[in-house]
Amino acid sequence: DDVLVEVRDLDMAFKIKGQRGQPTMLHVLHKLSFDIGRGETLGLVGESGSGKSTAGRILVGLFEPTGGSVKLFGRPITGPERRANLAAVRSRLQFVFQDPHAALNPRLRVGDSIAEPIDIAGTMSRRDRNDRVKELLEMVGLPRDSAERFPHEFSGGQRQRIVIARALALAPAFIVCDEPVSALDVSMQAQIINLLMDLQARFGLSYLFIAHDLAVVRAVTHRVAVMYAGSIVEVAPKDVLYEKPQHPYTQALLDAVPRPDPARVRPQVIGGEVPSLLVPPPGCRFHTRCPHAMPRCRVDIPVLRETGDGRQTACHLYEGPSVIPSAARDLPR
Ligand code: SF4
Ligand code: MG
Repeated sequence: DDVLVEVRDLDMAFKIKGQRGQPTMLHVLHKLSFDIGRGETLGLVGESGSGKSTAGRILVGLFEPTGGSVKLFGRPITGPERRANLAAVRSRLQFVFQDPHAALNPRLRVGDSIAEPIDIAGTMSRRDRNDRVKELLEMVGLPRDSAERFPHEFSGGQRQRIVIARALALAPAFIVCDEPVSALDVSMQAQIINLLMDLQARFGLSYLFIAHDLAVVRAVTHRVAVMYAGSIVEVAPKDVLYEKPQHPYTQALLDAVPRPDPARVRPQVIGGEVPSLLVPPPGCRFHTRCPHAMPRCRVDIPVLRETGDGRQTACHLYEGPSVIPSAARDLPR
């Protein structure tokens, strides 16, 4: 099967302490549905707090969602088979976090950090393990003798290479990259992005690439999903999305990117506040900020619809067949 990741109607709510101390539910994700194919990079973009990182953590098994289903390599990691299936696929999943400094234990030699997943799996001889570490260092463009050194001896970009080497240790098929270059300066960013793309071409890796930098996302992804307040509002092949954004939020997001165009001195910014996830707005969650909002947008939750060119958009301005049948979506108006 060529679909590695299949997400349907994914919901996530966290219990938090509200005002006056009573437990309150924070609805972080609402009915997310998407697929990621073998060798594909899906970008996940949106403002901070839109739920991108939570979605990424669910996909590597760190959080159990409160609703919907997730299949990895055809196996459900939601429902009663969660534990067994997660154990079966764990070695094929990895996570690369934003901050390579925090991700590495400063007291561990680089070789031991890289070998951590191998040591946990406990299936390789000492000699094979050490050979594998050297091979991994080479794969990410670091000298083989880096294994004996400590993280502080490396630059931020080199440390992110070490983190990537560790992620590759067990030859995964799917890696969630959560803002993997945001902590790096621009020249380092390009190098790490090139490395990730080379590794993808070499090993047929799939990535979920979470980022707020739209230029970086365009460089690295095949398709892009745009999140707003816990929902996917639009997903499309990247050139379709960047050249002709359909959803008013995607349009606003792309308009907010400064362009080297003298006629547009000030980038347009999105007015209004990001809505509260404690009491999300009814209907379309973007209606409080949308320049095209209609009366129906305040009551009727838009669902993702196929709108052509491989695109799906959740907005009442667009017609098309609904992507996912869902009980909640069939509620009468
Ligand atoms: Fe705007 Fe309505 Fe579309 Fe939401 S559904 S983005 S409020 S037009
Ligand atoms: Mg985040």
